[in-house]
Amino acid sequence: MDADRDAMYGKLRDQEGAALDHAAIQLAAECAGPADLLGAACALLNRRQRYFSMAGEHGSAFDFDGLCFVDDLDERLLVAIDKVLSRRKAGDLPAEASKRLLGVLTGLPALPPHPVGYMVIFLLTKAFAAFEGATRDLSPEDLAGLEQALVDRVAEWVHGFVHTRVTPLLRHMSDVSREYSVVARLSCACGKGRFAVERQALRTILDGGHVDALSVKCGSCGAEREIEFPLPHFADLARMTGPGHGETH
Ligand SMILES: [Zn+2]
Repeated sequence: MDADRDAMYGKLRDQEGAALDHAAIQLAAECAGPADLLGAACALLNRRQRYFSMAGEHGSAFDFDGLCFVDDLDERLLVAIDKVLSRRKAGDLPAEASKRLLGVLTGLPALPPHPVGYMVIFLLTKAFAAFEGATRDLSPEDLAGLEQALVDRVAEWVHGFVHTRVTPLLRHMSDVSREYSVVARLSCACGKGRFAVERQALRTILDGGHVDALSVKCGSCGAEREIEFPLPHFADLARMTGPGHGETH
């Protein structure tokens, strides 16, 4: 990545991240019940469009730098939603409402054990759309029960993701699982192809840090490139697993 672009993405990342944190604080202060909490989560989700467009203005949301920029802010977005939803009060939810919600959310994709932020965001978007479609004609009482059930479910998904980023070891595992998802989303300059991983190597870089270097090849034009994923928590993992296990991940 060239230094100017790097600095520009860094600046935008800080600016947009701070705006998300600020919005979360404001929204949380205004939330009184499940409907407000769902509204706040939607309002935060709607802010994704902004940084997604920014990635497009400065390159593409599907080139390597753009994907990393969006993934970083997706994480900030989910942390912000987690903060807002952590204010929910545990209600005595009628079992009936949980059961009905399951019916409403049938057919949504399941999350992998170490999801990338966008997977959680897509799931939330789909869940909100399904919920809206299925609850249009409900009585206010029925709707309130289902809203409470949905808040609990959404909070569980979001917190599950945030939890995969809390310790160095978990961060390392989710960083590694994100690599192939970045390659799968990366567009080739030929406009037609997607890349596939040809080779993968763990490297120690100059400052003693580690990167996973992936050699990738476009399935359409055959263009090859190498992308490097920083693994800032590799050393933590190596320390935890002890000598003899240091090079596995
Ligand atoms: Zn190509």
